[in-house]
Amino acid sequence: MTRRLKLAAPILASLVCASLCGGCLERKVSERAGGSPSSATPAPPSPGARLIADAGDFRVEYGAARARGEAELRQDLRENRVLEGLADELNKALALPADVTLAFDECGKADATYDAGARRVSVCYELVDSLYDAFRDAKSDDERDDKVVGATVFVFQHELAHLLAQIYKLPAADDAEGAADELALFLLTREAGDADDAALDAAEALTRDESPGAGGEEVFLRGAHALDRRRQSDLLCWLYARDGEKYKFLIEDGELPAERAERCGGEFAQVERDWAERLKPYLKT
Ligand SMILES: [Zn+2]
Repeated sequence: MTRRLKLAAPILASLVCASLCGGCLERKVSERAGGSPSSATPAPPSPGARLIADAGDFRVEYGAARARGEAELRQDLRENRVLEGLADELNKALALPADVTLAFDECGKADATYDAGARRVSVCYELVDSLYDAFRDAKSDDERDDKVVGATVFVFQHELAHLLAQIYKLPAADDAEGAADELALFLLTREAGDADDAALDAAEALTRDESPGAGGEEVFLRGAHALDRRRQSDLLCWLYARDGEKYKFLIEDGELPAERAERCGGEFAQVERDWAERLKPYLKT
C-alpha cells in the first residue's frame, strides 16, 4: 500500500466547496467569465415546484479504524472536515424526509456502499487509500490530494444517488448505475466552478480494467458500482457538454471520439432536464 500523503486542508476545503458550495458560486462564476460558450448553466427549479417538508439532515460519521494506515487517514479526513463540508452543502441543496448519514468506515477492502434502510452512505478508508495508489503519478502532491478527494466526492455522490432514488421513491431506472452517475453529476453541476472535476477524477480512477487479460476486474469499487467503459464514456461526454473548452483535451487525447462529442450537448441537456424535473420536490436551491 502506498503511503498516504498528509492531506492539505486548503485543497480539501476548496474541492469540497467547489463541489457543492453555493457560497462559492459567485466567485467561481466570475472566474469563468469569458469561458466556453458551450458551458451549461443548470436550469432553476420551476416556480411551481412544491418542496417536501424538510424533516431530516445529512449527518456525518467517521467510523473507527484499527489498522494504522486507516487510523491515520481517519484523522486526516476528520481534521479536514471532509464530511462536514459535504453534509453542509447537501443540507443547503436537498430536502430530506429523514436524517441521512454520510460515513467513512474501515471495511477491510476498497469499497463503497449505501443502505437505504439505515439511510447511510459509506465509503471505506481503504478506497481512499487505493485512490492514492491510483493517482501516484500525479504531477504534485497537491494535485494528487485534489484528485483523491475529487474521486472520493464523486463516489459519495454516486452512492448517495442510489440512496436518494429509494428514499425519494423515484421511478426505477432500467440502468440503475447509469442513473446514479447521472444524478451524481447533476448534483455536482448544480454548482459552478470545478465541481465537475470530481467526475473526471472518478472516471480516471474507478473504471474497470477491461484490457485483454485483465478479466474485466473493477479497479477499486466492487461489483456494479465500478464504472465500465460505457459509463466512463458517458461521464466524459457530459463533462465535455458542460464546458467544451475546458474538456476539449478529452477529444485531443482520444478519450472522447469526435463523432460522439457532437452529440454530447444534446445528451447532457436532456439529462439535466430529466433530473431537474424528477427532483423538483426535493431541491431547495
Ligand atoms: Zn452504483
